Amino acid sequence: MHEASIVESLLDLVVQNTPGSARVRRVDVRVGLLTGVSPDSLQLYFEFLREGTVCDGAEMAVTLQPLLAHCENCGTDHTLREVDWVCPACGQGALTFRNGDELHLESIEVDNGEGIHAGAADSQAQQ
Ligand SMILES: [Zn+2]
Repeated sequence: MHEASIVESLLDLVVQNTPGSARVRRVDVRVGLLTGVSPDSLQLYFEFLREGTVCDGAEMAVTLQPLLAHCENCGTDHTLREVDWVCPACGQGALTFRNGDELHLESIEVDNGEGIHAGAADSQAQQ
């Protein structure tokens, strides 16, 4: 996955969801662990690519989404904060994941002259 193209599609989504005269203050992004995307490099590319767009001067907050795993061996469910194929309960490498490849634009905060509006865009960036 290439972080620059991810940030480009996120910026496209933000522009589509932002009224023309508004300025974006903050963008919230939720990223699944299996994407392998680094929040730090997303933010770096955002700071570079936001110039000249409605996001100029905006900040981007990236949240890593915990991984929901199910063990095919012992049948237990686990919430993981980092990618691991080994079941914490039985020690077998039998985990399957129920999420992890998501990349969501969670919300956009804009300043449109009437105060801050936080809208849930609920769109998925192209991967
Ligand atoms: Zn297990």
